[in-house]
Amino acid sequence: THPAPADPAAAAEPVAAPAPAAVVAGLRAAFATGRTRPLAWRREQLAGLRTLLTERSEELLAALDADLGKGPAEAHRTEIAFTLNELDHTVRHLDEWVRPKPAAVPDAFRPATARVVREPLGVVLVIAPWNYPLQLALAPVVGALAAGNAVLVKPSELAPATSAAIARLLPQYLDPQAVAVVEGAVPETTALLEQRFDHIFYTGNGAVGRIVMAAAARHLTPVTLELGGKSPVVVDPGADLKVTAQRLAAGKFLNAGQTCVAPDYVLAVGGTGPELVAELAEAVRGLYGEDPAAHPEYGRIVNDRHFDRLAALLGDGRVATGGRHDRAARYIEPTVLADVRPDAPVMREEIFGPVLPVLEVPDLDAAISFITDREKPLALYAFTASETTKERLAAETSSGALVFGLSVSHLAVPELPFGGVGESGMGNYHGEYSMTTFSHTKAVLDKPLG
Ligand code: NAD
Repeated sequence: THPAPADPAAAAEPVAAPAPAAVVAGLRAAFATGRTRPLAWRREQLAGLRTLLTERSEELLAALDADLGKGPAEAHRTEIAFTLNELDHTVRHLDEWVRPKPAAVPDAFRPATARVVREPLGVVLVIAPWNYPLQLALAPVVGALAAGNAVLVKPSELAPATSAAIARLLPQYLDPQAVAVVEGAVPETTALLEQRFDHIFYTGNGAVGRIVMAAAARHLTPVTLELGGKSPVVVDPGADLKVTAQRLAAGKFLNAGQTCVAPDYVLAVGGTGPELVAELAEAVRGLYGEDPAAHPEYGRIVNDRHFDRLAALLGDGRVATGGRHDRAARYIEPTVLADVRPDAPVMREEIFGPVLPVLEVPDLDAAISFITDREKPLALYAFTASETTKERLAAETSSGALVFGLSVSHLAVPELPFGGVGESGMGNYHGEYSMTTFSHTKAVLDKPLG
């Protein structure tokens, strides 16, 4: 028999997306069969993801360009190569990470043995933001699959081209019974959050983080919250200010400043401000030339709302370099603001754009109190030649990460946990920390009956 020819009118009808409850039930059923547990399945998924990222990189780069004007070199490095690096590190260490770890037993229990095993949690929900819409959706998926879970990914609606690419490609390269993508904005995410998951991994802002955690509480579901905040930079007298400015500018203006760990503001200690500001102007020219608008690697602001928010901050303090902007292109030039007051609007909320305020502080004590008077940041950066300064910052401040001599780059060290503390989030991931996040660490004690 031949199938009836398709009715063109019927084909044009949008296919209704399955309800969230049905998607989650499908994933739960797949997990219950045990198909996600064998290491062979996990390795197959990671290999599939590797193929997706290499075979479809052109498509993904085009989507990232459409969403954020990301240049191909930067997009490849920070989204595709980054995720591949995380994936390869995971594949290399998977056997070691899933091996049960023997635990010593007290004498009174002998001849019992004990071990610690990692078991998959079940169905994991990953909610991703728009700023690194590929990396921040897929790097958690690497960990969730490596740990043997079924996964539901909810990409950000504010990066629609990348969201569509993820929804289109994941089912082609990964086991569609155990990996699903649901696209959408607040209503769709709200509906998803009514379902019971075994873990929710959320990246984004703290206001939504609270909504996610409240929804998770109804099912006693554990959460990882990868949030943001104002990550400070301390610049000490004695630091090489040229190198400092180059490394700061490289981290700050990446993705037009829309990076969760972007240096948010600089505390220039002991009169380093003027020279640092001059070096920052030079460093921006070195990165993007005289007209960053024409540079293929300089990104754009995600939408008009964020553009307007950022444009309003350009008047806080004196524009030392940059300041040009164009609403139609959602372009904001890499901008350094000098003479910024601590209570200026630019100092109130996470900037999340290419605007870098520089504040003068008299000494390290003042810098440390400035930091500790505020919420705990996702990262604290310091440029200093002094071991005492490093030791004091380590001992007297709290942040998701503490980085000397670089900005942003700690993310790319897979042996380091990535996550916040306090207002910048809870839990962490990357490398073996992802295995811990997406597994239950189970105690097994075994005493022979004889
Ligand atoms: P976003 O607007 O894309 O939101 C993130 C996700 O939350 C999206 O998938 C969105 O659909 C969902 N969401 C939005 N409103 C919701 C609601 N009311 N209920 C349920 N879900 C909802 O991204 P964003 O929050 O603007 O991202 C920027 C923030 O994320 C910044 O604060 C940044 O520092 C932080 N961030 C943190 C990291 C990290 O790894 N720690 C990485 C990137 C961004």
